[in-house]
Amino acid sequence: MILVDMAARLNAPVRIITLDTGRLPDETLEMIDTVEAQYALPVERMRPDAGEVARMTETHGVDLFREEVVLRKLCCQIRKVRPLDGVLRDLGAYAVGLRRGQAESREGVQQKAFAGGKWKLSPLAFWTAAEVEAYTKEHGVPVHPLYAKGYTSIGCAPCTRAVTSEEGERAGRWWWEVAGDKECGLHFTPEGKMVRELDVLLGELVNA
Ligand code: SF4
Repeated sequence: MILVDMAARLNAPVRIITLDTGRLPDETLEMIDTVEAQYALPVERMRPDAGEVARMTETHGVDLFREEVVLRKLCCQIRKVRPLDGVLRDLGAYAVGLRRGQAESREGVQQKAFAGGKWKLSPLAFWTAAEVEAYTKEHGVPVHPLYAKGYTSIGCAPCTRAVTSEEGERAGRWWWEVAGDKECGLHFTPEGKMVRELDVLLGELVNA
């Protein structure tokens, strides 16, 4: 949200893009409307391919993400990564709100990185949670209503829960997984065996 606020203040000609996975909580959909109204800017909603989602859920079930990590990554690939890849194809640069302090898997986040023929910018890479909160208050940035209910990182409804004060910021994401990173593949690719298993499953669905 801070990046949207900054872009609006700069009157920068940017596109604001969000991933509407089809499993978002109602509060997030309301939040998108709030953002559009507050900043008078359109938010582009990227949705997954309906055929790929149908083949995935027919093959593995609607809640396949509960079964095993590779199926959870498959769901994230179909509902998030592939739609994002589609929209990024024609862009030269994009900015995301990653911060190093969010999780161990994000400790190496760079403010700018060039990969796949485009720049990926993470202007908040070195910001702390306290700095985010301070900016939000100072500038009247809209706050997702689930933060008031104990959420610290918000994704799809069935894969996100509130956390306790002893837990990390991303502990509420896929909380039933005991091993591996808490990432969906948007920013970090699962390594080794996971990539190969995922490629096979994806191939079966997207080439059907
Ligand atoms: S967060 Fe959950 S529901 Fe959303 S795309 Fe990933 S696995 Fe699927």
